[in-house]
Amino acid sequence: MAAFAALTLVIGVSWLASAQAPSLTVISREGRKPLPITSINNQDYVAVDDINAAFGTASREDRLAGGLTITARGRSIVLTENQNVVSVAGRLVPLPAPPLRRDGRWYVPADFLPRALSSALDLRLDLRRAPRLLIVGDLRVPRVVTRVDAGTTSVAVTFDVTPNTETRVNAQPGRLIVQFDADALDLSIPLVPAQTFVLGITPGDTPSTIAIALGPRYATYRVNTSQADAGSGRLTIELLPSTTEAAPAPTPAPTPAPDTRLVLPNPGPSSGLRTVVIDPGHGGEELGTQGVNGTLEKEITLSVARRLRTLIESRLGLKVFLTREDDRTVSLDDRSAFANNHRADVFLSIHANSAVRPAMKGAEVYYLTVERADAEARKKADDNATTLPSLGGGNRAIDLILWETAQARYLEQSSTLAGFIEQALRTKVEMSPRAVQQLPLRVLVGANMPAALVEIGYLSNVDQEGQLTTAGYQDQIAQALLDALIKFREFIEPK
Ligand SMILES: [Zn+2]
Repeated sequence: MAAFAALTLVIGVSWLASAQAPSLTVISREGRKPLPITSINNQDYVAVDDINAAFGTASREDRLAGGLTITARGRSIVLTENQNVVSVAGRLVPLPAPPLRRDGRWYVPADFLPRALSSALDLRLDLRRAPRLLIVGDLRVPRVVTRVDAGTTSVAVTFDVTPNTETRVNAQPGRLIVQFDADALDLSIPLVPAQTFVLGITPGDTPSTIAIALGPRYATYRVNTSQADAGSGRLTIELLPSTTEAAPAPTPAPTPAPDTRLVLPNPGPSSGLRTVVIDPGHGGEELGTQGVNGTLEKEITLSVARRLRTLIESRLGLKVFLTREDDRTVSLDDRSAFANNHRADVFLSIHANSAVRPAMKGAEVYYLTVERADAEARKKADDNATTLPSLGGGNRAIDLILWETAQARYLEQSSTLAGFIEQALRTKVEMSPRAVQQLPLRVLVGANMPAALVEIGYLSNVDQEGQLTTAGYQDQIAQALLDALIKFREFIEPK
């Protein structure tokens, strides 16, 4: 799973940065892949093993000399432990920090990629530090900086795009989609406070789009393009109210877009279990991790999710929805938004794991950790609850909770749920030594209900890969998750 901060960081949105384990997102013609990062002495380091896997290079260690040679396209890069200089085909290249050897693995600072690997491979590698993107080859990945200026009678959303890039705005029910003529976006979006024209701004459904979720006062828009400065273009979208705003709106309320950053809360901590949303990890162009024998995580997760749905429907008679029914790409935020929109009482995300160490195996359960102390986050969630006027002249107010703090309100229940899942899994399958963990998992952040993520085993372990493909093992996992849900239902619906 560590590998799959990918989706999160794909577009490098700063508020998406609290992903799963940190990684660089490598964007190439072939798509997006994560490259794990380890922070050492405040520097982003990348393991040489991971570089080899990602770029097809090979390395050989000389323990006596304290050095490592990486071979790339027949060229040699020579690293010496603790030396800030590497040799690339005989040419010396300085690095901001020295290569390090830790626990038998070699690490190089991320700058090694554009400075040394790029020239050895004869390949353009563009490292963008803040969004942690590595762009391979000549891809168009403009930097897009977003700003929202709220006036009393309109709101202006401005995108400064470097380099200047063609854009197109499409109106959809409840949202505007801004399409950039690019392969991907290096996006910066500020936290947009709840207001009546814009409910939220998020990455769109494809890597080159941004979605603006529209609020109840929005009626129409006006687009203006200009030059921001040399090389940068500026697109301003002005969101306008209807000219007869005082009168009740004649049109139905806009449907909140699924990727809005505000969510309508359930009436508080779950008081019953009626609806379960199961999230089969990855899908479409996001393959997830891959086993030694080629098993794809995205296929295993969908298969287990289907088995679990059948069990829950037949044994408990609850409503069950899957965030994807087939092999398709779904963004992390859309997955939890789907659970919110279906008023799920529990959200379960299913993944399979991978590790560099082939021996690693066993199942693991995760629930969200938030960076601030839990209590503070919950308080913030409540402070940020706000109300919007509803359409049609009514005075019904809707409580809105900031996306970033939705899950914070459910951490205790999520921790209990994760504990039940761990106990149930332990009776059926082997568990990893770290069976329950807390991580800042993006897919759980916006879930407005108790939520957990299950890594059902390691595809990087050959034996476990074999198990994971069998109906027997998948059924054991599904049965364990069902047992955990039964216990959780007893917990939240005391007799
Ligand atoms: Zn995964």
